[in-house]
Amino acid sequence: MSISVASDVREAREKYVSMGVATPPLVVDAAEGSRVRGDDGRWYLDWAGGIGCQNLGHGPSAVVAAIHEQVDRYLHQCFMVGMYEPYVEVCRRLAAAFPGPGDAYKSVLVNSGAEAVENAVKIARAATGRPAVIAFERAFHGRTLLTMSMTSKVAYRRTFGPFAPEVYRSPLSVDGLRALLKSEVDPESVACVVVEPVQGEGGFHPLPPEFPAALKTLCAAHGILYVDDEVQAGVGRTGPMWAIEHYGVQPDLLVSGKSLGGGLPLAAVTGRPALMDAVHPGGLGGTFGGNPVSCAAACVVLDTVAAPGFRERSEALGVQLRTGLDTIAMDSDAITDVRGLGPMLALELVDGAAAAAVVAAARARGLILLTCGLDGNVIRLLPPLTMSDEDCTFGLEILHAALREAAH
Ligand code: PLP
Repeated sequence: MSISVASDVREAREKYVSMGVATPPLVVDAAEGSRVRGDDGRWYLDWAGGIGCQNLGHGPSAVVAAIHEQVDRYLHQCFMVGMYEPYVEVCRRLAAAFPGPGDAYKSVLVNSGAEAVENAVKIARAATGRPAVIAFERAFHGRTLLTMSMTSKVAYRRTFGPFAPEVYRSPLSVDGLRALLKSEVDPESVACVVVEPVQGEGGFHPLPPEFPAALKTLCAAHGILYVDDEVQAGVGRTGPMWAIEHYGVQPDLLVSGKSLGGGLPLAAVTGRPALMDAVHPGGLGGTFGGNPVSCAAACVVLDTVAAPGFRERSEALGVQLRTGLDTIAMDSDAITDVRGLGPMLALELVDGAAAAAVVAAARARGLILLTCGLDGNVIRLLPPLTMSDEDCTFGLEILHAALREAAH
């Protein structure tokens, strides 16, 4: 049986899909490795990766093979109806990869980054018996009611209030947090801080080098849990499995998502059993959380990123990208900063209009880019970490040409 399709995807999108979901003019009809093909038959180099979900590129053969194999075994089960191996295997791998000593860690699997952040807050509240949550300026944690309340950008919050209670916003500094704990919220009522190791949507700002350790010390002094939101920066995006590894800090709970499922929906919360088991049986879960097919993909993703050589290759890519961006920046008055961590890099431009013009010019030349930042003025690079040196050079050339074109 063939599925009937609309003759014009753009037209049908206008008619049937909510305008609340923003889309660029691109219609994708195939994807492979570091490229996607538009409906005009043109192949584009993809440095967006479905917003950071393709750290291994599109359709990596081992991931696709594991998905096919799982599809032939069984699809949905629901872990609350019958347990199954792929779910447990993902949790076993997440325990081995946790940025702390040993492998005595437990996980819960869910469908999206926002759902995972929500569950991390639930676990922190259950474990501490406290209600309050602290998020930071420029944070992005998702689009559900609680995570939107934790997100620090009006464009994601406009018209959607009232917001969830007991969410407090701190400047990204220990002094700022200390002041908040005096002026706004009693530290004794705070369950957790939630912080991205590299702020993603907020503009690709890595945490200042000393901040995570100082934050951990301050949290520990007040019995506040440190929740590390690695949804965008994790699964190898900055080189090591988790971006927090750059800082040598052990979080209490770690939230992962995006590339974890290799292109399928999967996210997780991982932490010590004393925290993860503080929730009563039945308090966590969900119909599709830890779907067997997503889990089969995630096992291969985690094995690939943990394998020797992956980090070295990603870091080499990071050096190549950084060198290229620094060179481009010397040639452009529109660029005000080059920043990031490892291969998770971005160019900050003078304003959002300049960034949008570069993204459009790059797309016309065959390179897909995304912006981020409070003003939409940051061009973030989320290429597959598996791309070749040639694709890296090619993408940098297009970016450079697009910047020149947009300047005129
Ligand atoms: N946390 C961070 C740091 C993110 O970057 C995102 C998404 O971009 C989320 C949470 C929310 O993830 P999802 O869109 O899968 O709900």
